[in-house]
Amino acid sequence: MHVTPATARISSQALKHNLQCIKRKAPHSKVIAVVKANAYGHGVEFVSSAIENDVDGFGVARLEEALRLRSHGITKPILLLEGFFDDSALAIMAVNNIQTVVHNEEQLTALQHAKLPNKIKVWLKIDTGMHRLGIGLEQVERFYEVLKACENVDENIGFISHFSRADELDSNYTTLQLERFINAVKGRGERSIAASGGVLFWPESHLEWIRPGIIMYGISPDNNVNSTKDLKPVMTLISSLIAIRNLKKGEPVGYGGAWISERDTKIGIVAIGYGDGYPRDMPKGAPVLINGRRVPVVGHVSMDMLAVDLGPESHDKVGDEVTLWGENLPIEEIAEKSGMLTYELITKLTPRVLTEYVD
Ligand SMILES: *Cc1c(COP(=O)(O)O)cnc(C)c1O
Repeated sequence: MHVTPATARISSQALKHNLQCIKRKAPHSKVIAVVKANAYGHGVEFVSSAIENDVDGFGVARLEEALRLRSHGITKPILLLEGFFDDSALAIMAVNNIQTVVHNEEQLTALQHAKLPNKIKVWLKIDTGMHRLGIGLEQVERFYEVLKACENVDENIGFISHFSRADELDSNYTTLQLERFINAVKGRGERSIAASGGVLFWPESHLEWIRPGIIMYGISPDNNVNSTKDLKPVMTLISSLIAIRNLKKGEPVGYGGAWISERDTKIGIVAIGYGDGYPRDMPKGAPVLINGRRVPVVGHVSMDMLAVDLGPESHDKVGDEVTLWGENLPIEEIAEKSGMLTYELITKLTPRVLTEYVD
């Protein structure tokens, strides 16, 4: 008997393919590859090494994530997308070539008062309508002048903003945000506003720098598989059958007897559960892939296992591989069924899930 437990199979070939597609879509833009949250659950060391030669820099959300890249030997620039959280971070950033977003007064003051061994590259974050991070349009002038005069700040100040509705193709809000951004920057430096949605759907937003995250991993930002037809899923989440049981018509399966079989059938038990990060309840029923066919998950997902209805004619065996999402089973479908975002599904996998790197 050989059983593979919950495993995320990660393909560097798919990753590189996706990056080439992204670069063809935005041929005049430089690329900040967004690898925050452990490269969206794909393993940041593997992902960053695989693509370092194909990108111009990396984007992360925490200083610790940036330092993890540096200790792994990554030398390309790294940008803190939310800026630094603590004045004491600046000295560490200066010696590690870590760039920062500046989005508030406190960060500006810290930069003015710091004593640093070398200059830091700053991206001024402008709020163009997301209303999450960023300075108001009326503050751009003042922040820019202060940064320009600050001896700790590299003279090439970049400008950055973020779309709130780039995945809504019929909304004019994205156009409005883009206009505000371009007018606020007034050609004073390099600009970046497009994340995955901007890269795919708003070519005029590509500007000098794009910041793709989810599409690098072959997943669509609008949960529509057609948006990313030419991309390949980088992660395939697999596990295996650990038992096959005969079940009589009318018998329930799992906690609470939440599912009752309407026929005599065979039930497969798969070694993955919510303790691995697989969603516990999907009212609309989720498919898994076994030996080339789709079968439904039945009953409640347990912490370590779930049950599938293999059907009375099944010839599946213990040890057979089961695909939960990825190749031939788009994660967008599981997101739709679970009411979760694809972004959530991939970042909620737990450390128990093994990682297998292929090609
Ligand atoms: C996460 C993030 C991105 C990447 O977003 P995707 O939708 O995954 O492409 C880009 N920019 C910023 C500021 C982010 O926080």
